[in-house]
Amino acid sequence: PMTVEVDDLVVRHAPDRPAALDGVSLTLAPGRRVAVVGPSGAGKSTLISALMRFVDPESGTITLGGTDIRELSPDDVRERVTGLTQDPYVFSASLRDNLRLAGPGADDAALGEALRRARLDRWAERVGWDTPLGEDGRTLSGGQLQRLALARALLCAPPVLVLDEPAEALDEETADALMADLLDATHGHTTLLVTHRLRGLDQVDEILVLENGRITQRGPHAVLAAEP
Ligand code: ADP
Ligand code: ADP
Repeated sequence: PMTVEVDDLVVRHAPDRPAALDGVSLTLAPGRRVAVVGPSGAGKSTLISALMRFVDPESGTITLGGTDIRELSPDDVRERVTGLTQDPYVFSASLRDNLRLAGPGADDAALGEALRRARLDRWAERVGWDTPLGEDGRTLSGGQLQRLALARALLCAPPVLVLDEPAEALDEETADALMADLLDATHGHTTLLVTHRLRGLDQVDEILVLENGRITQRGPHAVLAAEP
C-alpha cells in the first residue's frame, strides 16, 4: 500500500504557455479511490504525465510512498504506478493468453494448467468479462479492451493504478456498464481515475473537479452531482 501526495503542483509545457497545472494538491491514501473530473484542456493528461514522471513540475512535489518522485528511477516509478491508457494494446492471441502475458506473477506455472486457467478466469470475471476467454483478443470492443487491460493490470498487483478516461469513446450505455464494472473491480485498490464525466462515480471516495489547471471543487459524488 502506498500513499500518493501531490502538493502545490505547477506544470508548464512551454515557457510562453500558461501553466497546464497551476497549484494542484491531492492525497491518494492506500486503498482509496479518487476521481479527477474536468473538461478537455483542464490538465487531466498533464496530471497523469506528472504522476508517471513523463513531465517534471516547474514547482511543487509528488511523493510516492513518502519518496519524492524525482528521486525515483523510471523503473521505480513504473513499479509503483501503473497507468491504463485509452487504447490498450492486445497481443494477437487468446484472451487467456493475453492475461498470462501480463507480466511477472501473472502466470504461476507451479499451479498446474487447470488451476492456472481457473485463476485467469476469476480475474476476467472480476472485471465483468462476459465473453468466452478462448476468443481472439484482436476482435474486442472498446469496453472489453478496457476490461482486459484492467484484469492484466490487477493481476500484477500495482501499488497505484491510474485510469485515463476508460469510457472515452463509448456510447452512454456501454460507458455506464464499463464504469460500474471498473469501480467494482478496483474496490479497495489505490486508484486515481481521470474522466470528463461525473456520471457513475458514486462509488469513489472523493471527486476533484479540475478546470484550467486548478481544482475548483472537491467532495463526494452526492454533493457534486447535486450542484446545478
Ligand atoms: P486534458 O487532459 O484535461 O484535456 P491536458 O493536460 O491535455 O488536458 O492539457 C492541459 C493544457 O496543456 C491544454 O491547454 C493543452 O493544450 C496543454 N498541453 C498539454 N500537453 C501539452 C504539450 N505536450 N505541449 C504543450 N501544451 C500542452
Ligand atoms: P485528452 O483530452 O484525451 O487528454 P488531448 O488532445 O488533450 O487529449 O492531448 C492528447 C496528447 O496531445 C497528449 O499527449 C497531450 O499532452 C498532447 N497535447 C495536448 N495539447 C497540446 C499542445 N497544445 N501542444 C502539444 N501537445 C499537446
